Amino acid sequence: MAEYNKKTVEDIDVSGKRVLVRVDFNVPLDANFKVTDDTRIIGALDTIKYLSEKGARAILVSHLGRPKNGFEEKFSMKPATARLSELLGKPVIQAADVIGDDARAKTGGLKNGEVLVLENVRFHPEEEKNDPAFAKELASLAEVYVNDAFGTAHRAHASTEGVTHYLPAVCGFLIKKEIEFMGTALSNPARPFVAILGGAKVSDKIKVIENLIDKCDSIIIGGGMAYTFVRAQGFGVGSSLCEEDKIGLAGELLKKAEARGVKFLLPLDTIVAKEFKNEAESKNVLIGEMPDGWMGLDIGPGAIKEFGAVVAEAKTVVWNGPMGVFEMPNFAVGTKEIARALSESGAISIVGGGDSAAAVEQLGFADKISHISTGGGASLEFLEGIVLPGISALLDK
Ligand code: AMP
Repeated sequence: MAEYNKKTVEDIDVSGKRVLVRVDFNVPLDANFKVTDDTRIIGALDTIKYLSEKGARAILVSHLGRPKNGFEEKFSMKPATARLSELLGKPVIQAADVIGDDARAKTGGLKNGEVLVLENVRFHPEEEKNDPAFAKELASLAEVYVNDAFGTAHRAHASTEGVTHYLPAVCGFLIKKEIEFMGTALSNPARPFVAILGGAKVSDKIKVIENLIDKCDSIIIGGGMAYTFVRAQGFGVGSSLCEEDKIGLAGELLKKAEARGVKFLLPLDTIVAKEFKNEAESKNVLIGEMPDGWMGLDIGPGAIKEFGAVVAEAKTVVWNGPMGVFEMPNFAVGTKEIARALSESGAISIVGGGDSAAAVEQLGFADKISHISTGGGASLEFLEGIVLPGISALLDK
């Protein structure tokens, strides 16, 4: 599949060239405009260092937050640039605009190996509109384009897709890794291939389930979304989260999985609570016996054991979405134990961005996971089988 076989920064001559790099420096800032989590900046370091070592002139471009009215100091890239400079241990040049006079002068004056950061690309509304004239202006700052922002690769914006019409375009090391792990899992997985899906709603993950039914050996469902499937099997779910209008569809997905010989595992038991709060009275019940007035907030010990055994046998596991309301410590056990099972299995383990990635990191299992995706929305769309515009626009090998 061409979308999984893209040229990388190593496949193109960058030395002495001005290289426009789309990075994801959309980092959280505190009240004093200090970066409070630099994970995303760290994620781009391999590509930036590689370019510097090869003598390229790196021009980094990113968005930060959601500016609406042109330049606003609170959405400036300056704090991210300062952090990048600390991490690289050398000065990084900050442009005062994106495609204006300052950006032109500073990119024109770059020396080999130097790094510059443009201002927030979303100061221009043309960015999200993928305006061709804006994309052309942006592209005119450079001779080569590198996309290393997986988190925005599912958006066809000027800095992710538009510029590829004007420059030879390849991926950086971060996107390369995303493609290697997720692309291989979807196109040629080591088997058994197991998907674990959780989170609040079935409706958010229908397309993922439909796509994975054609590819997986087992699908494990936990979290709030499990109860819609439980209803489709004819059981009551008390006052648990349930999407009434999706019960029919859930039933069809169950049948489809059966027809394809895909094991579809729902929790055997579940922790139910009287109220949606951490201190609520709670107990474990079998899934067919959920009492009225109680809501399921986590998977039970039987489910943890069964899911864990399937994960232990797997050769590839993709996980997206928590097994329960993991923000409340009393209902975080299922999510924790699945994270543990994944970290202990010998499988190629891939964790989608968002809540499940945060859970794995908080629990200290991150270094035992083969790949933690850097994009929540983008990784979901990847799992849905959608070709991400920011990736498909890159040159094929
Ligand atoms: P998502 O963004 O779809 O991955 O959903 C994540 C959210 O699902 C988290 O905020 C969890 O608290 C929530 N969640 C997981 N399990 C349940 C449940 N059994 N009932 C209600 N919410 C849940």
